[in-house]
Amino acid sequence: MLQKIDHLGIAVHSIAEARHFYEKVLGLTCEKEEEVESQKVRTAFFVLGETHIELLEPTAEDSPIAKFLATRGEGLHHVAYRSTDVTEQLKQAKENGCKLIHETPFTGAGNKQVAFLHPKSSHGLLTEFCSGEQK
Ligand code: ZN
Repeated sequence: MLQKIDHLGIAVHSIAEARHFYEKVLGLTCEKEEEVESQKVRTAFFVLGETHIELLEPTAEDSPIAKFLATRGEGLHHVAYRSTDVTEQLKQAKENGCKLIHETPFTGAGNKQVAFLHPKSSHGLLTEFCSGEQK
């Protein structure tokens, strides 16, 4: 079951450059920066009430974020929905004809269990399911 929008993922060329906008213009606080090696990205999470803004910067040329930036430029990359059970959420999506990028969840930023649906099945917006933070 989905609970809330966990975060919005925004692709940027440089977190160091983009953080000025999020910190000074929007007045948000950066909660943490973290590199997710499996996805070849550096992430920075900014707090906004119940949700977060996740900036994504590629750490390699073959990073999915590098490919996204090359074709579409900076901007909204994905929306992440918090689910009580990511595995069950994926199963339901698949049963309803949705194409999955990940058949099983993997460990993403914040040690959360995450998985992505194919944007072709979600009307153009890359969709992530994620669990709450795992300690
Ligand atoms: Zn995300």
